[in-house]
Amino acid sequence: MTARIIDGKAFAATLRARVANEAAKVRDAAGRTPGLAVVLVGEDPASSVYVRSKGKATREAGMESFEHRLSADTPQATLEALVDRLNADPAVDGILVQLPLPGHLDERAIITRIDPDKDVDGFHPVNAGRLATGLPGFVPCTPLGCVMLLRDVLGDLTGKDAVVIGRSNIVGKPMAQLLIAESCTVTVAHSRTHDLPAVVRRADIVVAAVGRAAMVKPDWVKPGATLIDVGINRAEAGLVGDIDPACAEVAGAMTPVPGGVGPMTIAVLLRNTLVSAARREGVAIDPAL
Ligand code: NAD
Repeated sequence: MTARIIDGKAFAATLRARVANEAAKVRDAAGRTPGLAVVLVGEDPASSVYVRSKGKATREAGMESFEHRLSADTPQATLEALVDRLNADPAVDGILVQLPLPGHLDERAIITRIDPDKDVDGFHPVNAGRLATGLPGFVPCTPLGCVMLLRDVLGDLTGKDAVVIGRSNIVGKPMAQLLIAESCTVTVAHSRTHDLPAVVRRADIVVAAVGRAAMVKPDWVKPGATLIDVGINRAEAGLVGDIDPACAEVAGAMTPVPGGVGPMTIAVLLRNTLVSAARREGVAIDPAL
């Protein structure tokens, strides 16, 4: 068997086009353009690239991008004051503080300072709680993008055995919550899991979010399973995921790296920003978005 390769790039492009379409509706109804504020502290090259591409994608979706670049030695109080200003600014629907922050800053304090109703990254504990209890809120972009791909490939996920490898707050845990909400039977594996290959072998759906190049091997995979590779690892040959590409010989479908989950993250960020603007303005948008 050769797995169907899940084209996250194409799916993300379609999602972005749909967001742009709905953003125009919000603009017409509310008389203002939805806006996303992105805050970057310091000059980490990878973060700089992310922030630039988020700004570009936001503008391409017909929304406003507000970029705030602060020096690496910015004090906590200055960053908190900026977050307070953005919380109060009616033109700002979404606030994203690019992580990681320089070591002297208290990341947790900054995340919890963002208004949960503008927290389009979904990292605020209030949004984590809303997700866990089934209330509307904001869901972290990467796992939400993974579920969108899974629904596209498999349709109804009810009753599927899903294994999430990784338990981080930004990927593994929200991923598990989303799959529970889709009525999957969910196992969360992590660095202390015994016999990971045996755990993965049970799964109809595997989501790998670890950060170890090509860790998941073909003989770990149940024939026909759907594999979602969140991992981004820099190798000599370029970017590689957490799933060995040779798993395509066993799996039913899998995401490539690059071109799978990666492009979904920014597309979902735009989607979350649009949803925030629509909620704040009381404008109805496509509920399927
Ligand atoms: P993290 O380091 O916070 O978490 C990694 C998790 O992997 C931990 O929960 C740990 O328990 C688990 N783990 C570590 N070693 C393991 C092992 N040997 N066996 C099983 N589990 C093990 O990382 P994260 O922020 O969740 O990100 C995970 C990966 O996803 C990274 O490669 C990151 O770059 C990538 N990522 C990609 C996107 C995207 O847009 N595609 C977004 C976020 C993260």
